Amino acid sequence: MKRNQSIVRKAKIRDKACVKCGKTTSLEAHHIVALCEGGKDELENLATLCSICHHEWEYIARALKDMTFQEWIDIPQSGLLIQMWRIAPEDTTFRDIKQIVAAMVDTMKVVRSEEID
Ligand SMILES: [Zn+2]
Repeated sequence: MKRNQSIVRKAKIRDKACVKCGKTTSLEAHHIVALCEGGKDELENLATLCSICHHEWEYIARALKDMTFQEWIDIPQSGLLIQMWRIAPEDTTFRDIKQIVAAMVDTMKVVRSEEID
């Protein structure tokens, strides 16, 4: 399918940087709901990602179908998520890994807030 290049450009202008990591180079427009899943090729369905984050999201989306794009955006440690997924025993579900990472993130927040106090 031919992409609408003008909305790709508009998405990049609107977001200015990768919505995941803030990088401002190698930017690509990502469909929040994939076109093959009925997502529209419209500005509201586009999020700007750098090529690294875009690749990371596609990996995560394949590995765990139960994680939404927004949940992924909200987890800063998605690289950690991928690493743990790769080394986890075969019977580990992605839900388990998400819980472990969420607990680790909470622990880091506690440590950080204690450092401030
Ligand atoms: Zn990025």
